[in-house]
Amino acid sequence: MRVFNFSAGPSVLPLQVLERAAAEMTDANGTGQSVMEMSHRSKDYKPIIEKTEALLRELMGIPANYKVLFLQGGASLQFAMIPLNLAASDIPGDEKTAAYIDTGVWSDKAIVEGSKYAKVEVRASSKDKAYTYIPQAPAPKTGDAYYHITLNNTIVGTKWDTLPETGSVPLISDISSCILSEPLDVSKFGILYAGAQKNLGPAGVTVVIIREDLVGHAPDWTPIMLRYDTHVAEGSMFNTPPCYCIYMIGLVLDWIKDLGGVEVVAKLNHEKADLFYSYLDASQMFYSPVDKQFRSLMNIPFIITEQDEAKKLEMETRFVKEAAAAGLMNLAGHRLVGGMRASIYNAMPIKGVRALIDFMKKFEGC
Ligand SMILES: *Cc1c(COP(=O)(O)O)cnc(C)c1O
Repeated sequence: MRVFNFSAGPSVLPLQVLERAAAEMTDANGTGQSVMEMSHRSKDYKPIIEKTEALLRELMGIPANYKVLFLQGGASLQFAMIPLNLAASDIPGDEKTAAYIDTGVWSDKAIVEGSKYAKVEVRASSKDKAYTYIPQAPAPKTGDAYYHITLNNTIVGTKWDTLPETGSVPLISDISSCILSEPLDVSKFGILYAGAQKNLGPAGVTVVIIREDLVGHAPDWTPIMLRYDTHVAEGSMFNTPPCYCIYMIGLVLDWIKDLGGVEVVAKLNHEKADLFYSYLDASQMFYSPVDKQFRSLMNIPFIITEQDEAKKLEMETRFVKEAAAAGLMNLAGHRLVGGMRASIYNAMPIKGVRALIDFMKKFEGC
C-alpha cells in the first residue's frame, strides 16, 4: 500500500511517474536498454536530456538568453559556485561584495559558504523572530556582484510574497523547495537553482538556470568542475551527468504538462495549503508559528499548544508515531526547530492533506 509521504526531501513523487519509470525500466523507448545503462553521449540518451530541458523551458517560461544546467553537488554546491563565479578574485582581498538576506538555515549556509569567496554582507535577517517572517529587503548597493535570497524556506515554512527590486544587480535565488509550485518570472533573476529532490525528481541532480551574461567570470584558479562556463560549453556533459535523474525530471515535467502546466499546479497547491492552514488556524491543539503574510505553500510546520515542555514533547512523539501507523509518514519537524512539519509538494494529492487533517482532528479529540 502507498503511504502519504510528507517528507521535506527526498520526497513524494507522482505515482504515474513512478509507474511509467517502472514500465520503461528494462526497455526505454524501444532501445532494449534501461536509461541507466545508456551512454550519456549516445543517440538514445540525447533526446532524453534535450526533452527535459525543452519541457523545463516551456513550463517555466525560461527566456532564450538563459542557460539550463543539470549539475551535481546539490543546492549546497551552488552556495560555493555562485560566489566563486560571480565575486571571487585572483587577488586576495579584492573580492566583490555580495548582498544576502538571511531567512533561515539554508540562507545561512549560503552566507557561510559565500563568505569564503565573496565579501558577503547580510543586509537583512529574520533571525530575531526565529525566522517566522520575511524581513524588509533593502535596495542593493553600487558594486554588489549579486543579491541572494531563499525564495521558499523549507525548514521554517516561509516564502517571499514579493520579490526585492534589485535593479541592475542580479537577483539570485535558491528555489529548491518551490520550483514549479507557482508561476515565477524567470526574467527577474540572474540565477535560479534547485536541488531536484523536493519538487522535481530524485536526489542527485541540481537544476541551475543562469543568464548568459553571468557565465564566464570565474577566476583562473576555480576548479574546472565548479565553473559555469565549463558546463555551459559542454551542455552539462563536461563529465557524466546524472543521466537517470535527468530522465526522471523529464517524466515529472511530462506529468505537470499533462495536468495543464504550472498555473494548474499552483491552483491545486493553493487549495491544499488553504485547507491545511484553515484547519490549523481553527484548531485548539495545533498552530502555525509562521506570520500569515509569509506562509509557504510547500512546507507547513505546526506546533502543539502546550505550555509544559515535557508534555509537549511526549505528545509530539506520540503524534508522529501514531500518524506513521496510520500511513501518514515523515511528519516530524526539522531537528533544528522541532514540532511537526507537513511538506505538501506538487506530488502530494489533496486527499493526503485531507487524510492528515482527519487524523489530526481525531488526535485532538482524545
Ligand atoms: C534541501 C534544501 C537545500 C539543500 O539541498 P542539497 O541538494 O541537499 O544540497 C538547500 N536549500 C533549500 C531551500 C533546501 O530546501
